[in-house]
Amino acid sequence: SWSSSDSVISTDSAGEQAEPGNPYRVVLLGASGVGKTAFASIFAGAADSMDSDDCELCGDEMCEKMIEVDGEPATITLLDTWDAETDSEWAQENYMQTGDAYLLLYSITDRASFLRASELRITLRRFRPAQHTPIILVGNKCDLVRRREVSVSEGRACAAVFDCKFIETSAAMQHNVWEAFHGIVRQLRLRRDSKEA
Ligand code: GDP
Repeated sequence: SWSSSDSVISTDSAGEQAEPGNPYRVVLLGASGVGKTAFASIFAGAADSMDSDDCELCGDEMCEKMIEVDGEPATITLLDTWDAETDSEWAQENYMQTGDAYLLLYSITDRASFLRASELRITLRRFRPAQHTPIILVGNKCDLVRRREVSVSEGRACAAVFDCKFIETSAAMQHNVWEAFHGIVRQLRLRRDSKEA
């Protein structure tokens, strides 16, 4: 279904060619069960949106909407179709190549998902060797304190090794989820500004 949505992604709502990088294609990556769907539904929901009916292109696999970050609007196309277990190799490679930025999720209650995030980071690096693709390592489910298997310092250390940002979130408590989206927009803007300079 990537190919069918491809033409939608590359044009804006008026059907004209969008300026490069805007909308920004943000891909949710991570093992199954870490909270990608929960992230996508918070994104698709009304909270923090400039216009609550603004999600023009929403489906199971993607959602496009405008949010305001630091007083400036940004349009994000969020892609949540990537499933390491079921998607074809071709689809995986497509995601690795076409995202402008990545939220790399694991669950703090699931060490295997933390290891999976490392594998995905390495795969990403293989596909984007020379590019400074914005990536945030996201430790989700931080509300489940008693079931924690991955410490905050392990998460932070992993992000340092992988040269990406780090945040702990709780989709269940709606804690830090928007901060993660805002963080990715800030990184995309930094990259854009340094290219323009
Ligand atoms: P996906 O497979 O990555 O899309 O994961 P889902 O979004 O479907 O989440 C898997 C399960 O974890 C669901 O039962 C969610 O309700 C739950 N979940 C997701 N995020 C959180 C969170 O931050 N805290 C808690 N306690 N549960 C969560």
